[in-house]
Order: sequence, then structure tokens, then C-alpha cells
Amino acid sequence: MKFENTLSYAQQLDAQDPLHPLREEFLFPQQNGKPFIYLCGNSLGLQPKSAKEVLGKQLDNWQNLAVEGWFEGETPWMFYHKELKELMAPIVGAKPAEVCPMNTLTVNLHLLLVSFYRPDQKKFKIIMEAGAFPSDQYALESQVRFHGFDPEDAIIEIAPRPGEYTLRTEDITRIIAENADQLALVLFGGINYFSGQWFDMPAITKAGHDAGAIVGFDLAHAAGNVPLQLHDWQVDFACWCTYKYQNSGPGGIGAIFIHENHFADDQMNRFAGWWGYQESIRFKMEKGFIPEPGADGWQVSCTQVMPMALYHASLKIFEQAGFMEPLRKKSLSLTAYLIYVIGEVNATIGTEQYKIITPANENERGAQLSIIAKGDAKAVFNKLVENNVLGDWREPNVIRFGPAPLYNSFEDIYRAGELLLQLSREEAI
Ligand SMILES: *Cc1c(COP(=O)(O)O)cnc(C)c1O
Repeated sequence: MKFENTLSYAQQLDAQDPLHPLREEFLFPQQNGKPFIYLCGNSLGLQPKSAKEVLGKQLDNWQNLAVEGWFEGETPWMFYHKELKELMAPIVGAKPAEVCPMNTLTVNLHLLLVSFYRPDQKKFKIIMEAGAFPSDQYALESQVRFHGFDPEDAIIEIAPRPGEYTLRTEDITRIIAENADQLALVLFGGINYFSGQWFDMPAITKAGHDAGAIVGFDLAHAAGNVPLQLHDWQVDFACWCTYKYQNSGPGGIGAIFIHENHFADDQMNRFAGWWGYQESIRFKMEKGFIPEPGADGWQVSCTQVMPMALYHASLKIFEQAGFMEPLRKKSLSLTAYLIYVIGEVNATIGTEQYKIITPANENERGAQLSIIAKGDAKAVFNKLVENNVLGDWREPNVIRFGPAPLYNSFEDIYRAGELLLQLSREEAI
């Protein structure tokens, strides 16, 4: 596509965008009486206008039904998660039985590792990407120690080649194959939070399985951002948060995926709780854990109705958008436009002031671009925020912009670029 760096052109793209009206479904933070240009949906998605109403309905149920709300009302709490499962499944390419909203991300990662990381003296190693989100590193290290192994021996991190910022699939699959004898688990991010690289998930899954390992993904930055086919790709398990691209609010409910291939495995360890017990007989309160079939059987504590209500509000907007295919189509154009606009900024300045480290190939990225900035980039970033453009900053020198197709416009990107250019020139003077 041939772009133009003008306001009228950006507005024309918005006028042609069938998803543009969905922007009206969200609340934008304000500063000095003006809305922010919000490019931080990769960190915390915006609040749907409907969130108050959907949450309010459950507060009403609590008020009016109290304990009877578990089985009565329009959406009895006992079964509320099933309504969400139907809407979550198309977002990650799963069957509804394979997904479940519960807990929060790192907690779920631990619970899933209990089931899927079962090391023995021969096969105990884990392969992950170097520079994974710290919470994932801590979770894996502590799990390895819990099983009596040393993270130094047990965890293999795959790093970019010298001088490169992202991983090559050929390196990932080769290292998996080389370690097949000792490999228990491959645990990768779907999209790396820092570089924005979307890993070749089907290739990694296949390589892991060929090596006789289990393959899981942390999809914090992928779920609701890029189209996923977890079921067809034969991914064993996955977990993600819903407060980034899926707008469920700070500390929003987490979610898990368990491939149906594992439903019948009754040898699988799990840390059980009453809410994972078979639903039809849960309230018999009997001794001896019998899991509910499917992902629901991994639930531990009773279902979190209020966080689910907030997530539900956003899921209904995903449904309205037609789920991931139209969203991805728009996301690709938004991000391509952002790449173009940053290129124009650099060209006008006359040097590569802003270097995009996220892969240029659209099959290797989602919405987010990570940009290494030269000079006093922190000063430029702070001024962007002062002037109502909100991206995020990652030490030492990376600006992340993650335009979200549900609520960002081409005009947002044009205006962010215009300001970036203006501020960079001022800083340089
Ligand atoms: C955002 C993020 C987390 C956050 O975990 P919480 O348990 O929700 O606090 C973990 N891992 C990755 C990869 C993330 O991007």
C-alpha cells in the first residue's frame, strides 16, 4: 500500500475503515481537558463504555439475589463462565471446552506447569526465549527448583544472534532438536513483550513435539492481538491475561487453554480445588477429587464474577467486530501506517533517529512496534506524554507503540508521528 503522511489522508483511511465506529465504544483517558492519543493497549486496554453497565448488572444481582445469584437471575454465576468461554474460543482458535477464564496469568502459569512440566532425571530441560517477561522467568526458575533441579542446568534460553534483536525460527527449531534427549518442555511467549516479535508458533510446536516435549505458550501479548489457532496447531497448553489487548481492566481475569488431547489423561498432576470438581455433583461436597472435563477442571477457587463481567463487556465488542479476522486486517494496516510514518520522521530528520526492532515481516509481529530511540529519547518520550500521546517506555531506550484496532485510528498515528517529529527537532536544537 502507498501511504501519505497527511492528516486528510489519515482521515480518509478512517472513513473507509468499517471498524472505525467501534472507537466510540471506549473511554479515552484525558489530560488538560483533551483525550490522549492512546497507543498503550499492549499494556492496559481501554475501558469499554459498557463496562459500568455490565458490571452494574452483577452488582444488582448481588444486591437483589445475594447468595441465590449463584443459581438464579439472567446469568446465574455458577454458569456465567460458559457464556465467556463461547466468546473467548474464537479469539484464540480453540473449542469452548478448551478455554476457561480464571485467576490471573502468572498464577495460571504455575498451575499449568504443575500439570505439564513433569521432569525426570532424563528429561528435565525447558527451552524458552531469552528476555522473556520477568514473571515468566521467575515462575519457571521456581518450578525447576521445586522439582529439585538447578535452573542453570535445566533452563535453556534462546537469544538473538549477535547484532540482531529478534530470534530466527531456524535457530529455535535447531536448538529444540539438539536438546531432544533431555527436553521436557518448550515454553515460549506468543509475542515477546519487548521486541514485539510474534514467534512461529506452529513451527515451535511441531519442533517441540518432534523432540518428545510438551509445548506451552504465554499469550499475554498475543491473545486478542493476532489470530491464533491453538487447537489446530496442537499447542498443549497456554495462558494469558485479558487486560492488555482484551480490555478487561487492571488485574483483570486470566485465561487458560488446554488442548482436548489432554482431557482424557487421568494421570495428570494438578493442584485441585472445589471449583474444578465435576460441576453436576460439585455440591455433594464429597471426598475424592473428580475433575470437570476440559479446561474447567483446572479451576481452583470459586468463579470471579465481577472480573468476568468486566471482561464480558469487552468480549461483546470483539464479537461485534467479527472477532480476529477483521481486527487483524485493520491492525496490519494501522501498524504498516505507523512504520511508514516513523520512516517519514527519520527521513525528515535525516538520520535513523527511531529504529524499529520489531520484525518488518507482518507474519512476525502483531500490533506493537518497539522502537529504539537515539539521543535523549526519554526526554522526547516524556514530552510526548505531556502532549497527550501515550505509548510506553522500556529501559534503556525503547518506546513501544501498540495501536489497537478496536479503538485506534489512522488519525491517531498521523498525529503521533507529527508530534514525534516536532519534539525530536526541538530536542536536537
Ligand atoms: C503482562 C505479562 C505478564 C503479567 O502477568 P500477571 O500475572 O498478569 O501480572 C506475564 N507474562 C507476560 C509475558 C506478560 O506480557
